[in-house]
Amino acid sequence: MSFLIVSPGKDPKAWVEALENQHPGLNIYVYPEDHDKEEVEFALTWNHPRGLFKNYPNLKVVASMGAGVDHITSDSGFPESVKITRVVDPLLAEDMSYFVMTLILNKLRNLSIFQQNQAEEKWKPISYKRNREVTIGIMGLGELGSTTARLLVQNGFNVRGWANSDKNIEGVESFVGETEQEEFLNKTEILVNLLPLTPQTEKILNKELFEKLPEGAYIINVARGEHLVEHDLLEMVDSGHLSGAALDVFWQEPIREGHPFWSHPQIKVTPHIASVTHPSSVVPQIVENYERMMDEEPLKNVVALDKGY
Ligand code: NAP
Repeated sequence: MSFLIVSPGKDPKAWVEALENQHPGLNIYVYPEDHDKEEVEFALTWNHPRGLFKNYPNLKVVASMGAGVDHITSDSGFPESVKITRVVDPLLAEDMSYFVMTLILNKLRNLSIFQQNQAEEKWKPISYKRNREVTIGIMGLGELGSTTARLLVQNGFNVRGWANSDKNIEGVESFVGETEQEEFLNKTEILVNLLPLTPQTEKILNKELFEKLPEGAYIINVARGEHLVEHDLLEMVDSGHLSGAALDVFWQEPIREGHPFWSHPQIKVTPHIASVTHPSSVVPQIVENYERMMDEEPLKNVVALDKGY
C-alpha cells in the first residue's frame, strides 16, 4: 500500500516531511519517480497530468492540496469510481477573509491612487466612504465566502451573499440562485467572487453581469481566472461603468508579458496568493482521510461529483 504525491511544478518537500511526521512509516512516492502503480490507493495532488489517474487500478481516493478541486474535476479522463476530497481549513479561510478586506480597504481609502500620486509628487486629498456606507456582495458563501462575510460584518460593512442555497449568517442578506441574482447585484458596490469553478460558474463574471451592478462598482476576483471574461472587464472599466478590479487569479498564470492587466491603472494584479495552503496545517486532515480509507470509514470533505464542488 502506497501514498502518491503528484504536484508537477510545486516542490513536494514540505508535504513529504509533514506526512512523515504525521504518519511515520507511510510509504510515499513522489511522481514521476519509479513506483508500482498497483500499490497506490491514495493520491495527493495539484495540477496532475490529464488522464494520469486512470493508470492506477487500485486507486480509491484523490485528495486536492487546496480548497479548489477544478484541477481534478476538469480532467475528462479521471476515473469515476475514485473519490475526491478537498482541504477545509479555518486558517485558509481566515487568510482569504483578511486578504479580501485588505483589498476592500485599499480601494475605499484610495491607497493605490495615493501611491501613484506620490510617484508624481502630487498632493491631492480624496474624499472617502466609511465601511458602514458601503455594500459588499459575495458570490459563493461556502467555507471561504462565509468566513469573509463574517469578518466584513464585524467591520461594519453592509454584506450580502449569493449561493445555490439559502444561508443564515448573522448580518448577511442571503440571495439564492439565478432568480435572485439580479436583486443581489443591483445594490452591490464591491463584488467579491468566491465561487468554485464549475461548468455553471465558468465565465460568470461577464459584461451582462457587470451591467447589473451599480455604476462605479468594483470587482474582486479571488476564486479562479476562468470565472472572468477578461475583455468584458477591460471594456467595462474603460467605459467607466466599473471603477476597477483587484485580480488574484487568471486564465493563464503567470499572465503573459504585455497583458493589458499589468499596466492598467485601475486593475490591481496579485500572483494567486490570497490564501495559500500550508502543508503542516492540512496534513492532519489528509492523513485522517487516509486512515479512514484504510479502515473503510466515511471520508471527510468529500466533493459532491454531481455538483462539481
Ligand atoms: P465551497 O465551500 O465549496 O463554497 C462554494 C460556494 O459557492 C457555496 O456557497 C455554493 O453554494 C456556491 N455556489 C457554487 N456554485 C454556485 C452557482 N452555480 N450559483 C450560486 N452559488 C454557487 O468553496 P470554498 O472552500 O469557499 O472555496 C471557493 C473557491 O475559492 C475555491 O473553489 C477556489 O476556486 C478559490 N480559492 C482561491 C484561493 C486563492 O488563493 N486565490 C485559495 C483557495 C481557494 P451552496 O453553499 O448553496 O452549495
